[in-house]
Amino acid sequence: MLTILTDPNPSLRERSRALSVEEITTPEFQKFLDALIVTMMKDGVGIAAPQVGKNVRAIVVLMPKGPECFINPEITKKSEGMVDSEEGCLSVPGKFGIVSRHKKVTIKAVNRHGRRIEFEAKNFPAIIFQHEIDHLDGILFIDKATKIVKAAKTKI
Ligand code: ZN
Repeated sequence: MLTILTDPNPSLRERSRALSVEEITTPEFQKFLDALIVTMMKDGVGIAAPQVGKNVRAIVVLMPKGPECFINPEITKKSEGMVDSEEGCLSVPGKFGIVSRHKKVTIKAVNRHGRRIEFEAKNFPAIIFQHEIDHLDGILFIDKATKIVKAAKTKI
């Protein structure tokens, strides 16, 4: 388990740097990705490396088939259609807010084996990608939320 940084930690506000294929494929970085997955799976559906104090462009998203790592992810296309949904964040404990996101996005990234991938994400995964990619640019959902509610959801 890695330690999750919480707002207002300055690391969460940095723009993270891109990774090279050489860096991605090192055993150390592969181990880091596994730890990031374990950390996310405890309580979340997505996580970004800066949330554990590593300012590199790597995210994990819980996809329908399980958690997957995406390196240097970019949104190359966005739908005009927007959707409002309630978001929370491992780095902003106890707060939830309504955020407007694109319904569909096309993602270009590199997978954990260093291979280039491009695909369309829609519905809930599309929201997760937009939230996590924001983390890589130092943006938190509370910057975009129209309504913040404190601890709206009870965790049991
Ligand atoms: Zn988050």
